[in-house]
Amino acid sequence: MISEEEARSKILETIRPLPARRLTILQALDCFAAEDYAARLPLPNFDNSAMDGYAVIARDCRSGARLRVVGEQPAGLDRQLRVLAGQAVRIFTGAPMPAGADAVVMQEDVTRDEDEIVVNGDVDLGQFIRQRGCDLSEGQKILEKGARIRAATLGLLASQGFTEISVGRGVSASIISTGDELARPGDKLKLGQIYESNSILLQALLQRCAALAVSVEHCGDDADSLGKVLAAAIKNQVVIISGGVSVGEHDLVQKVLRSIGAKIDIWRVAIKPGKPFLFGRIGECIVFGLPGNPASTFVTFLQFVRPAILKMMGASDLDLPKVRARLIVDLTNESDRPHYIRGKLQGGKFSPVGRQESHAVFGLSQANALLRLAVGESLKGDDIVDVQVWD
Ligand code: AMP
Ligand code: MG
Repeated sequence: MISEEEARSKILETIRPLPARRLTILQALDCFAAEDYAARLPLPNFDNSAMDGYAVIARDCRSGARLRVVGEQPAGLDRQLRVLAGQAVRIFTGAPMPAGADAVVMQEDVTRDEDEIVVNGDVDLGQFIRQRGCDLSEGQKILEKGARIRAATLGLLASQGFTEISVGRGVSASIISTGDELARPGDKLKLGQIYESNSILLQALLQRCAALAVSVEHCGDDADSLGKVLAAAIKNQVVIISGGVSVGEHDLVQKVLRSIGAKIDIWRVAIKPGKPFLFGRIGECIVFGLPGNPASTFVTFLQFVRPAILKMMGASDLDLPKVRARLIVDLTNESDRPHYIRGKLQGGKFSPVGRQESHAVFGLSQANALLRLAVGESLKGDDIVDVQVWD
């Protein structure tokens, strides 16, 4: 049995990012930038008005001052207008500033009188002008290699005129659930059977990492059929097997993997739940064997599979987000492995939910955060802890 940290570094050392590809920016949502991107343009690209109103010279404007309106500057074209002393130009939001003007006065703050305006009060130099480059200078870094492309990132890229960007390739994974006792949801349960639930859980978790489950197969505890299903599955970049990695006579995954030439790098990790976790390779394909108890599948996916998939897709941050929270109960880890407690993070407080055994699915369904308790660690209610969140 190796430590969780050792397992994680071993996995991440093995994984190489996939080659990058160019996508239209919308397709790149939730992908990871494959290079640094810099601003092509300053933003704004020209001085422009932040309001509908009048472009003026600030020092001309006192309460009661009259200015002659000498032109109109709409957004979208530059009429190359000029404002001289005692003059104003009618201007609209986003329109380029006329030469000579150094402020904009809102239309609500003047009274229009035919081709003149009467100013209601003082005007500050520069008011309501969006200065060229005040948001972003040309050449400034706008996207870092490895950063996730979010909705607002797309807005920024589009505002810079980008139509395509280079991102890390998406991962396609194959899921195999194993177990003679498993029936498909929708089928009638026979005595002793349970519904198979891990493959749907794994598909959803993959989706949350922007990876794709390209095939989902189920296989009984039978070496021949597992061998056949595996032979097809390993054509994908990643295979995730649920169940059959423990030590019982029906746990055939490791044996079958070896028989088709897989190299097993990790089997059994000091983590609770999830001790029988397995990691191996066959050719170019990365294989994860996750213990079948749903909470074990869930925790080992988040701790080992998720970072590996993110690294393959070119992400730089492989960790789940961490949030500080106030623990509301006492907790002690008396086991020989770090224990991931499933719980609810709400209003800055963390409370364990439901049974913490690895078969229990109800508590897991109510949880949105994991608290890692180290071996021997004892925490008191009111302690401040860091919890990992995934939802
Ligand atoms: P195993 O890892 O195969 O020893 O399975 C451990 C426990 O998880 C057993 O109680 C299995 O019935 C259960 N289990 C295994 N695979 C699944 C699955 N795909 N969906 C739900 N439960 C499962
Ligand atoms: Mg089994």
